[in-house]
Amino acid sequence: MIHYTAMASCAAAEARLRDPAFEVSAHWLIGRDGEVISLVPEERRAWHAGAGEWRGCRDINSASIGIELDNDGRSAFPGAQIAALEAVLRGIRTRWQIGADGVIGHADMAYLRKSDPGPLFPWGRLHKAGLAVAPPPVIPARGRPLSLAEVIGRLCRFGYRRPEGADESRAMLIAVKDRFLPFWRDAPLLPERGADEPHLVELSGLALALGGAPRPGD
Ligand SMILES: [Zn+2]
Repeated sequence: MIHYTAMASCAAAEARLRDPAFEVSAHWLIGRDGEVISLVPEERRAWHAGAGEWRGCRDINSASIGIELDNDGRSAFPGAQIAALEAVLRGIRTRWQIGADGVIGHADMAYLRKSDPGPLFPWGRLHKAGLAVAPPPVIPARGRPLSLAEVIGRLCRFGYRRPEGADESRAMLIAVKDRFLPFWRDAPLLPERGADEPHLVELSGLALALGGAPRPGD
């Protein structure tokens, strides 16, 4: 699971992650210059995920390895940092037999509380390297977009916790757009787009790319 520290410096983040009083920890911390710091052995449980759910699992801390990236939450991620992350991910995936679809962001499992690693994180680069799943949307050449319920159903099949009510659905779609459709997240709304979900065409294409052909119950 990938995080950003939302702190001013790597040293400040390391100090906090090593301080028991804060009750927060992660296995790895990666600096903007690509320095990789091991904080918790991978076989030990770290406290980085908190409340949330992914693929039906709610105790994510017991089932994941947490990677913190030194980033203030507003800045781009330097290439050296992402190159170091890619090397760390390759090692983790080999040691623990984790597929590309097992690499997620904090917001993916905790979209009601968290937004890291945020819309500036280069998921597309990881996808191209085979280290994460973030396919470009498949825009249907013909035909109507999926309904919002169909889109949400496919995203939940991919791993997201099923949202309850409009507010949770909106929070989930913000996390989805941050990760998969960052260009559209803040795009100006076209007047012909529906008010409920103006990016339904793009989200449908994403749901098609992630979820494959429709299944009964979608
Ligand atoms: Zn986080």
